[in-house]
Amino acid sequence: MSRAWNFSAGPAAMPEDVLKRAQQELLEWNGARASVMEVSHRGKAFMEMAARVEADLRELLDIPSSHKVLFLQGGATQHFAQVPMNLCADGQRADYIVNGHWGEKAASEASAYASPHVAASSKADGYASIPERGQWDLDPKAAYVHITTNETIHGVEMHDIPDVGDVPLVADMSSDILSHPLDVSKFGLIYAGAQKNIGPSGLVVMIVRQDLLERHPRPLPRIFRYAEYAAADSMLNTPNTWGWYLAGLTFQWLKGQGGLAEMDRRNRAKSELLYAAIDDSDGYYRNRVQATARSRMNVIFNLRDAALEPVFVAEADKAGLLALKGHRALGGVRASIYNAVPFEGVRALCSFMAEFQRTHG
Ligand SMILES: *Cc1c(COP(=O)(O)O)cnc(C)c1O
Repeated sequence: MSRAWNFSAGPAAMPEDVLKRAQQELLEWNGARASVMEVSHRGKAFMEMAARVEADLRELLDIPSSHKVLFLQGGATQHFAQVPMNLCADGQRADYIVNGHWGEKAASEASAYASPHVAASSKADGYASIPERGQWDLDPKAAYVHITTNETIHGVEMHDIPDVGDVPLVADMSSDILSHPLDVSKFGLIYAGAQKNIGPSGLVVMIVRQDLLERHPRPLPRIFRYAEYAAADSMLNTPNTWGWYLAGLTFQWLKGQGGLAEMDRRNRAKSELLYAAIDDSDGYYRNRVQATARSRMNVIFNLRDAALEPVFVAEADKAGLLALKGHRALGGVRASIYNAVPFEGVRALCSFMAEFQRTHG
């Protein structure tokens, strides 16, 4: 049995080195005479590991001391609701920039606690672009401005951090965190579900500016308050210890590979190769996203003959190229090429595409 190239959008491929290390340490972790899943999160060994994981993430992203790092649960979706719960007074306006499925969902989930205002949207072009910054209808009194830096389903990525003045910028970075260096100081709050670029599902990494933790817009049970997690080093209750551990292995792997500058270089090279394969196919393959907004993580495309798309996906699977079926909302093909998908995997996909076009053209 051998592992195939995995283009799953999420839960997604993890670095093979990380999986092997986890396998080696599975039965006995760190001299504990038990696995990492079987020891107390309040024990010295786990606490030391947790601190090291945070330190590694801080180093990778160069996170300033003004920002706390939290390890949470609930997936990104829970935080679509929990962010406004923590940051907005009842009915207070929060501005949402919507350039795809997830931003739409984030805005809709916010409405129980805030007045989400869609300050800009690219829905009119089927989410094939990022709305021009000059057209955003922002309120300087809004609780925050929410963006989705990479839209995993629509294959659209915001390549520049927008300037939104003094209003805190909140970003769902579930599918592009750690794919390139980032100026964290420009953000009030960043959150990311782990299952795309960090590790297994069930873990959420949040980076939040201290002053935002001091907002008390409403009484909340402690378990929903980010400030309580910050005060308890993310151990308010039992955390996802396995996810935290694997995230740590991924961070070490990233450091060993040359950090985020190297990831940026590789992700550019991988996505450029794949977009070139699409663009140079004489229209056999097509990507409809505006050139400047094309995602480096999720490359979506259609075949000229849509009837061949399921054939393409099935034959690719047989050829060892997994999970290329587009999201059910869009159809077509989607290749997710996160950090853990190597250049060779993308090259294999490009060769398969050329061969498929030759034999089904
Ligand atoms: C996958 C994804 C989500 C949803 O994550 P869950 O962990 O399933 O809640 C939200 N936003 C983005 C950008 C995603 O890629």
